[in-house]
Amino acid sequence: MPKNKKAEKRLSNVPQEENKGEKVVIYKPNMTVLNLAEAISKPVGQVIKKLISNNIMASQSQVIDRETVELICLEYDYELKDEVITDKARFDEFKIEDDPSSLVKRPPVVTIMGHVDHGKTTLLDTIRNSRVALGEAGGITQHIGAYQINHNGYDITFIDTPGHAAFTEMRARGASITDIVVLVVAADDGVMPQTKEAIEHAKAAKCPIIVAVNKIDKPQANPDHVMEELSHYNLIPEAWGGDTIYCYISALKGKGVKDLLESIELQADILELKANPNRLAMGTVIEAGLDRNKGPYATLLIQNGTLKVGDSLVCGDTYAKVRTMEDDRHVRYQEAKPSQALMVTGLESVPKAGDKFMVFNTEQEAKAIAEERRIIHKNREIEENKPKNINDLFNQVDGKNKELNIIIKADAQGSAEALKNSLSKIEVPDVNLHIIRCNVGTITEDDINLAAGSNALIIGFNVRPMPNVKQSAASKKVQIRLYRIIYDVTNDIEAALKGLLDPVYEEVVTGYLEVRELFKISKVGTVAGCYVTDGYISNTALVRLLREGIVIYEGKLATLRRFKDDVKEVKQGYECGVRIEGYNDLKVGDVIEASISQEVKQ
Ligand code: GDP
Repeated sequence: MPKNKKAEKRLSNVPQEENKGEKVVIYKPNMTVLNLAEAISKPVGQVIKKLISNNIMASQSQVIDRETVELICLEYDYELKDEVITDKARFDEFKIEDDPSSLVKRPPVVTIMGHVDHGKTTLLDTIRNSRVALGEAGGITQHIGAYQINHNGYDITFIDTPGHAAFTEMRARGASITDIVVLVVAADDGVMPQTKEAIEHAKAAKCPIIVAVNKIDKPQANPDHVMEELSHYNLIPEAWGGDTIYCYISALKGKGVKDLLESIELQADILELKANPNRLAMGTVIEAGLDRNKGPYATLLIQNGTLKVGDSLVCGDTYAKVRTMEDDRHVRYQEAKPSQALMVTGLESVPKAGDKFMVFNTEQEAKAIAEERRIIHKNREIEENKPKNINDLFNQVDGKNKELNIIIKADAQGSAEALKNSLSKIEVPDVNLHIIRCNVGTITEDDINLAAGSNALIIGFNVRPMPNVKQSAASKKVQIRLYRIIYDVTNDIEAALKGLLDPVYEEVVTGYLEVRELFKISKVGTVAGCYVTDGYISNTALVRLLREGIVIYEGKLATLRRFKDDVKEVKQGYECGVRIEGYNDLKVGDVIEASISQEVKQ
């Protein structure tokens, strides 16, 4: 580090000169050498050399830390400033940035998944009722979408909607609220289709899985068989040298449930889940609805900060001044800490499950932001109704690499595997293909949910979705591509991957002009006095000169003027002076077709 320069800067109490404003670099996390070179308008090679001379070896795509960015900025006399994140931007991006010293341990949020009838609801009920056994208040409970228990002084929040429909629905809306997935598998039934789906969902969400082998009270129970089956999905028990926690339970009889809770605590400790309770709350809507007496209500999961009665918050595009907060046992709270989920009243209208919420300092601010979001939302709806193209499906992994998630559904195991192999052979620099599901059968609602949650493309090979699934795909903006030949799939995907790196342009005709007069100007050439009969012409247009329908010349515009002024664009019904680059042989009565080159969405 050129300490002297840095020190000089610190010592100088002279305020920044105004004209320095133009030599400012805004620091953003994950800045690469290339980003920095672009920010200071220097060739990337030069920046790399500068880094080397400071004993820092970095390639252009490498992410460099703030100190290194500052070093280069100082060398080139740039000032480095941090990105100012307004509350509004923070909410839009849901950024949770806290000083590590302000973070304290928070309870885990757990979702229970598994095949139908394997005992998810029974387990959720048993755990909820165990509160009474654990010495907590009993009484009549209400379904609010989540509940919290305290086991040995350790809080755990359970999302009280079993199955992965809710989980994926949330993920599809960009909300990942689950820290740990408990996968319930009936010991007398083993791995079933929804077990597999649940594993895929949990893995796609990068959630650790604890396996609860259920119904061990049944005489036909065969837990070893379940373990054996699950080990094919990389859920290898600790006893076999893996790192997946397995618990053997009878949800019905309450056997092994304590061990399961302890395993959740263990897994949560490994995850080191933390939040900052000393800030305004933010989190996600778990459920919402309208009650005749209470008005609009929502169960809010607090993911950071503390939510208090009287707080003003924005939630999706509605707003609330928190009137009451209560849990599933009707217990009222004045404040709620991270990982607590409470039913909140005081909302202006009903938000959607998966909407994010954030508290603002004043009611006025919250109201204004909610209103702004409503308008943006309305405008965006029109835009969003357009189907996604492949380019929208690339997930930015880091500064350089992109990832395309793919779901393969095929008519037979052989073709599914063949497709998977062929696709995995495609190599395009900086783009990785990630096959998150590959199986046999038609495209189902669950595939659509997984695709929506993971921003994935669905490839159907010799299968067709049912009309209702098609409809659901359209409403969730999921793209399905149907094929009959493997070669077509690989060709298409490869082309799409390459297209991403190398956009394709097409010519779009913008208008027509009629040549009405000619002016020959020495040293300049022929200027055509034209009238725009249709559309418009821009000064960057490509032009095609037509004489009686035949193309005489194709080229670029040299000048586009109205009277004596250069103009950017001339619309239908106006006159203009046009000169074509490298061509002077125009005639009165010629037609000029103007077009622009436009990137093709693939
Ligand atoms: P879900 O569809 O996964 O929510 O499954 P449920 O919780 O509704 O359970 C399905 C059936 O399995 C019900 O009849 C339960 O009583 C039964 N069941 C659940 N857990 C156990 C268990 O541990 N042992 C036995 N014998 N039956 C169970």
